[in-house]
Amino acid sequence: MTAPFLPLADVETTVENRPFWDALRNGRLDLPYCAPCSAFVWYPRAICPACHSGNDIMWRTLPGTGRVYSYSVVAKGSGRWKESGPYVVAYVQLDSGLVGVDGPRVLTNIVGDQPQQEVKVDAAVRMIIDSDVKNDAKLGDVVRNLLRFTLV
Ligand SMILES: [Zn+2]
Repeated sequence: MTAPFLPLADVETTVENRPFWDALRNGRLDLPYCAPCSAFVWYPRAICPACHSGNDIMWRTLPGTGRVYSYSVVAKGSGRWKESGPYVVAYVQLDSGLVGVDGPRVLTNIVGDQPQQEVKVDAAVRMIIDSDVKNDAKLGDVVRNLLRFTLV
């Protein structure tokens, strides 16, 4: 349970991003890594956006830690977020777990107890996997997982 309540998104699982969602379901943060560029590919996809390589993409597990690069406190959401707020939207610079390689910078939420009062640039964070079960008319109960972060 996270506070404040933030709705989870329905996500489309594709051949290209399935390893990311499978790893998240198992408590890991796995991302594609381009060996020629020595860089992670965010968002997950089969082709490196920098060098267009598709042959040298491998999946690596990241430590799930990072630092707040930038953030904004949203006082009151809109749309399906209208019951939420205040909440924190942030870019997190992920630790790669590799020497000399930066992790990607991901857009996410900082959740926990009153994160809007504690968050600051460069604050250490760790990943959490926010989950729920949504009943789908065609698929039945579907477990949804979303990558979010909490202050360390
Ligand atoms: Zn590349």
